[in-house]
Amino acid sequence: MEEDNQEFFWIKSEGMKKLATENLVIGNQVYKEKLITKKGIEYRLWEPFRSKLAASIMNELEVFPFKNKSKVLYLGVSTGTTISHISDIVGPSGIIFGVEHASRVARDFLDRVASYRKNIIPILQDARKPKEYFSIFGKVDVVYVDIAQPDQTEIAITNCKIYLKKNGYLFLVIKTRSIDVTKSPRRIIDEEILKLKENFDIIQVIDLHPYDKDHAMVIAKFHI
Ligand code: SAM
Repeated sequence: MEEDNQEFFWIKSEGMKKLATENLVIGNQVYKEKLITKKGIEYRLWEPFRSKLAASIMNELEVFPFKNKSKVLYLGVSTGTTISHISDIVGPSGIIFGVEHASRVARDFLDRVASYRKNIIPILQDARKPKEYFSIFGKVDVVYVDIAQPDQTEIAITNCKIYLKKNGYLFLVIKTRSIDVTKSPRRIIDEEILKLKENFDIIQVIDLHPYDKDHAMVIAKFHI
């Protein structure tokens, strides 16, 4: 096992180095991921084909602002695959506000993830109405957005203006095909980046191939 940092780990499994996080809830699996114990510490393998944040790490992500004790706003948690690994990383003194508007997936998320993890505050709300997240206090270090909506960039910007601290990071998953099927993915990404430029420095754009065909991850730093 190589300990590159405190946030995530590379663990040998079936002869290959695999990405993992230290499990905050011992024995608990979220999406049937493999659990591996080494030197008395339990790790959960983090599957890049299931999580776009894991895919970004596999594809040379250069900044990783999710740390022990970080405060995160996560829009579009779905059933909780990625947020569960962020929960491992930020640890018991960190906090993640997890927003989801679809009540059926939110139920699954509550049952399988949020109910086991005290550092996740579930918010059953529309990300278009950020002023209605009454449980958020103070500003966050990172805003993570994965909502696959045509106006996702505008939604991300509005949420950052209210909740992201200065010099905080935005992780924005761009579903290149959900915005306009007639445009090329590169053009879609460029247009979304242009919308961010007024308030953000673009740090990196990551193509998520081969883990995910239709998405890119944009990492941007908030400068207001
Ligand atoms: N981020 C998840 C992961 O990595 O495990 C996957 C997210 S999935 C692609 C997109 C989610 O965003 C869906 O569960 C959808 O219901 C949710 N969503 C879409 N529009 C939303 C909105 N306006 N407000 C809140 N959630 C929204």
